[in-house]
Amino acid sequence: MHSVNAAHGAGLCGAVHFTARLPTRWVAHCHCSRCQRAHGAPMVTWVGFGESAVQIDSAADALRWFETAQGAGRGFCGRCGSPMFFRSPRCPGELHIARAVFDTELAHQPSSQVFVSTRAAWALDAHTLPVEPED
Ligand SMILES: [Zn+2]
Repeated sequence: MHSVNAAHGAGLCGAVHFTARLPTRWVAHCHCSRCQRAHGAPMVTWVGFGESAVQIDSAADALRWFETAQGAGRGFCGRCGSPMFFRSPRCPGELHIARAVFDTELAHQPSSQVFVSTRAAWALDAHTLPVEPED
């Protein structure tokens, strides 16, 4: 599926990687407290696909799922810990992939945001703080 009609990505160590057939269904920021904890981040930008559009390739036993009490699942790499996937009975037939683990650019930019009531107040100033050199 390596083509312009597919997107690719992987976790930090590469043991879990995927190919997703484009186009995406949607791209959205989620500010919910579960995403904040699971990803250790102020928010998670999710990319929605039909589950049949995504092929996940994993080294033996690398892909792990954390199943929540509500029946949702968070897929991550058991070797490096990278959080990558989300599925929920609330979104039947969909697989959500964290935008940050894509290697390729996506034509769709985020177009909405959810759970703004729990937006991380400590991250709102990210675009206005002094910039430190990277070296
Ligand atoms: Zn969330």
